[in-house]
Amino acid sequence: MRLVGISFSIHDDRGPPREQERGCHSGHADVCKGVRFQAHIGTVGNELADFYAKQASTKNEIDLPISLSLNYVKSVVFKAITSDWQQQWSISEKGRPVHELCPNISIHRLHGNYFLNQVITGHGAIANYQHKFFSSSTVCSCGTEIEDREHLIYRCENWTATRGKYFPKNFLNRTLIQLLSHKQASIGIELILKRKLELILETLNS
Ligand SMILES: [Zn+2]
Repeated sequence: MRLVGISFSIHDDRGPPREQERGCHSGHADVCKGVRFQAHIGTVGNELADFYAKQASTKNEIDLPISLSLNYVKSVVFKAITSDWQQQWSISEKGRPVHELCPNISIHRLHGNYFLNQVITGHGAIANYQHKFFSSSTVCSCGTEIEDREHLIYRCENWTATRGKYFPKNFLNRTLIQLLSHKQASIGIELILKRKLELILETLNS
């Protein structure tokens, strides 16, 4: 087997190479800057490749210089990380109420509002969630059905007036994420959750 020494350099697109590190290659280019990928551990073929890679790194001459743009490296790393994140988010058993509304991962924040987040997560002052911790009833105070986020936002008669004031007339045809993104409707949703929290605190203090 011929060992090939490779130099990897990552350069900023705005200027000349600012960093150069010695790498090595023996069919695998997985040793660079002294970092060994764990994928090599425990696999005979990979460990052999690792062995030759280290042997190649002792060579004095560089047979093949490779120059990579910093933006290119960032792009590759970003794609790998977000792809892995999306895969984990799709198959996880956790955070399913959020996944129902936001199936695709994003690096952009959707909402940072304490009350609206309770609707997004299904947590907080919603009876169906409170029941998990306090063994309280899951049935809404209106007495018609289990109080989950959909009941509160779309159907509960306790909040008919709030919906009438803030929600668009066709709110039943809008998805929850569309209502949360609707400026006026989001104000109404926030008021509903605020009042829900006040009612819980009033009950605890009585
Ligand atoms: Zn209700």
